[in-house]
Amino acid sequence: MAGDGPAALPVQLVEQPRLQKLKEMFISKYGSAPKFYARAPGRVNLIGEHIDYCGYAVLPMAIEQDILIAAEPVQTQVVQLANTNSSYLDFSTSVNNIQINKTKPQWHNYFLCGLKGIQEHFGLNNPTGMNCLLDGTIPPSSGLSSSSALVCCAGLVTLRANGKTLSKAKLIEFNPLRATDVRLPSGAAFVIANSCVEMNKAATSHYNIRVMECRLATKLLSKSKGLDWKKMLRLHDVQTKLGVSLEEMLTIVEEVLHPEPYSTEEICKCLGISLEELHSQILSQNIQDVSTFKLYQRAKHVYSEAARVLEFQKICSKAPANALQLLGELMNQSHISCREMYECSCPELDRLVDICLQFGAIGSRLTGAGWGGCTVSMVPTDKLSMFLKNVKKSYYQTDGQRLAGENNSLFATKPGRGALVFVEA
Ligand code: ADP
Ligand code: MG
Repeated sequence: MAGDGPAALPVQLVEQPRLQKLKEMFISKYGSAPKFYARAPGRVNLIGEHIDYCGYAVLPMAIEQDILIAAEPVQTQVVQLANTNSSYLDFSTSVNNIQINKTKPQWHNYFLCGLKGIQEHFGLNNPTGMNCLLDGTIPPSSGLSSSSALVCCAGLVTLRANGKTLSKAKLIEFNPLRATDVRLPSGAAFVIANSCVEMNKAATSHYNIRVMECRLATKLLSKSKGLDWKKMLRLHDVQTKLGVSLEEMLTIVEEVLHPEPYSTEEICKCLGISLEELHSQILSQNIQDVSTFKLYQRAKHVYSEAARVLEFQKICSKAPANALQLLGELMNQSHISCREMYECSCPELDRLVDICLQFGAIGSRLTGAGWGGCTVSMVPTDKLSMFLKNVKKSYYQTDGQRLAGENNSLFATKPGRGALVFVEA
């Protein structure tokens, strides 16, 4: 069954206490040993926030923290899920009838998305059942993509259990889909600091509103430039169709859009459609009751952030003597744009960024969706230990409540390994 799945790396369990522990828990839960393990790393986005869904490239780095799943294919067509963290409840369902409840962001739904994705991709008629035990070390809802790691890991487990292979993409870039390695300059470390404010994307509407604001800005910009606005979905499409630079797009935004919020009435008037058409054809289900949208500042953020990503990549490839300074400046500008233009920061993130800069970071910014979650800071290697000590004291130890139970809220990252499947040697 599992024999000819994706290449699996043999590992010695005795040298891996976390795996050993997971194996023991698995045995006491299911009465037999796992047949294989899969892991998928979290990631930290170094720059390029909220622009992926607008069609622009982003710059993430895999981190060491991951989602690890021990699994065993079984004869019954049932998938059973358990978690080493008891706040994530056990779950089981038939593999032939996967129902994903979109209204409740429960953890097993993320697993089921990965499972269903693979089932559908291969058109599996007779998918195998499996027992799974999950152990995660990525702080959840902190912008380090614990949810994506969980979906990917579930996909890997399903692949292996069903004896299928899929070539592994390294990093996702959009239109066209491609990956480029970026060599970061030496002399600095990236430090992740969790604001300890959780923001569950599936449970709030901030995120969906931003996505819609970008779409509406796309429509208005397209209409004003005589493009077929009904077909245009992303800010990147406007740039491509017009064949202009990001700088020129910023000028167009200044000319076409205004800073004050747009009412739904004004948007309808600009597009020449009725309120009913706006609600039925453009606005998504979950934001039907929002009545004003900010288009100017969202579009400004997206085009300027997209330009910063390109600049970041260029500096990394040219590696001038002051590369760290230049990259740090881009990270700082990115944070300001997130805070002022995209309004996806929060007072705790802003405070944390200020503290990080005060204690020697060359650049610091929120990372991930925002409204909570983590910051990422670039810190000269020789200042790292003092930096960690000072930030810990200023942010985490002034408020006893915050520090409690948060041992992994501040850490320097090494680039992590990619997703993989492995078996006991
Ligand atoms: P993130 O930025 O970390 O991806 P999301 O809000 O998108 O934040 O996803 C967080 C959700 O992912 C959690 O609410 C939970 O359902 C799921 N999740 C994350 N880590 C784990 C874990 N270790 N075990 C089970 N579910 C997890
Ligand atoms: Mg997520």
